[in-house]
Amino acid sequence: MTKNSPAYMMEKITSLSKRRGFIYQGSEIYGGLAGTYDYGPLGTALKNNIKNIWWRMFVDGRDDMYGMDASILMNPNTWVTTGHVQGFADPLSECTKCKRRFRTDQIDDKTKCPECGGELGPERQFNMMLKTQVGAMEDSSSISYLRPETAQGMFVNFKNVVDSFHPKMPFGLGQIGKAFRNEITPRDFIFRLRELEQMEVEYFVKESDWQRAFEEWRVAMNTFIKAVGIDTTRVHEVEIGDADRAHYSKRTIDFEFEYPFGQKELYGLAYRTDFDLSRHSEASKVDLSYRDEEAGERFIPHCIEPSFGLDRTMLAVLLSAYTEDTMGDSPREYLKFHPRVAPIKTAVSPLLKNKPELVSKAREVYTMLKKDIPQIMWDDNGNVGKRYRRQDEIGTPFCVTIDFDTLGETPDLKDTVTIRDRDTGEQKRMLIGDLKSYIMEQIK
Ligand code: ATP
Repeated sequence: MTKNSPAYMMEKITSLSKRRGFIYQGSEIYGGLAGTYDYGPLGTALKNNIKNIWWRMFVDGRDDMYGMDASILMNPNTWVTTGHVQGFADPLSECTKCKRRFRTDQIDDKTKCPECGGELGPERQFNMMLKTQVGAMEDSSSISYLRPETAQGMFVNFKNVVDSFHPKMPFGLGQIGKAFRNEITPRDFIFRLRELEQMEVEYFVKESDWQRAFEEWRVAMNTFIKAVGIDTTRVHEVEIGDADRAHYSKRTIDFEFEYPFGQKELYGLAYRTDFDLSRHSEASKVDLSYRDEEAGERFIPHCIEPSFGLDRTMLAVLLSAYTEDTMGDSPREYLKFHPRVAPIKTAVSPLLKNKPELVSKAREVYTMLKKDIPQIMWDDNGNVGKRYRRQDEIGTPFCVTIDFDTLGETPDLKDTVTIRDRDTGEQKRMLIGDLKSYIMEQIK
């Protein structure tokens, strides 16, 4: 495997993720389940940090946004109305020889199996919604689906939020949650999953205002991409042409990221017109129009939808952070996370773990920091050099070490510690009393 080849990069990220507790294969001890991954302690912390940034930027930080947490299971009529029952399908062919299945829109020669060369069977449409049975009766009336997108949970609650909060136009709903798609060929680690997480906004506007709002969200999406530390030079906005756009969308931009396996979708931004609210209004017979008190008019709002895949964000953040360099004389591989997303903000260590006076002072510093900055780790394993390497590998931006000078061996240095920077390896001395504000400033 040549260095920096796609396979090399994916192997590095996958094995580091597993080794250090970011991401494991789903139900691994039973041989896994295709298209599922489990986030370990550090992966969960990274994911929560990303979700919090998103929520603060797009919900709590704005006056025109309302947060939601709708059910994964919805009345199945929802999915009839949206067209998912009929049309949420990918073209599938099965190899007549090895029986493997392929998405025919993803292979060049649609007649030959890309794995064994056997003949591919006829193309058919495969619905990607995961069906489930709700309740004790096992008949067609109990069929429901695990939602394939979080969006509809917001559209069906449009009227509820309007009635409770009387928001002025424009305003939006935001939600983070799981979605499920029975992908024919889950692949590329956490890029194409069967169980995934989305962060979505449905932003409601007057029809005449859609272009302004679309542009505002395009900029906002770029701000988020930067804030979580995704390498912006690897992100490309791709305007989707008329032929490839969903039928309800009048404009769509895909934000694509240069993954090692190709430039592929990271996020989507779509102008969905009044399609969803109109369709739900007609099908449910509930009036989902909005009354603008000031203008004295009633209309079905139009909608701009910025849609963010959380797992693809994780992958892009990990790939952007992964760095190989040489420090001292030895090669090093580490995750250069922005301190804002790093799962551990600072590791605190005594210089030597067999000196009780160092350990007790270090514990004091650790407890003091942890009170206000929960993502702090106690680390007294091995020698200091090894600790630094291990912390670098998981992307910890700072390592604080308590040594004999902290205790006053050099009187001028009493109550100072060393704080080491992950990227440069440089250490400086800092007063214990200044640590908290310094770290807080960096992780903002
Ligand atoms: P693709 O063309 O890659 O299948 P899509 O166009 O079907 O994606 P959308 O329906 O626009 O995706 O979903 C919104 C977002 O959800 C995507 O931009 C992506 O970040 C994420 N997403 C969609 N499908 C998956 C999946 N199978 N695994 C992980 N994330 C996904």
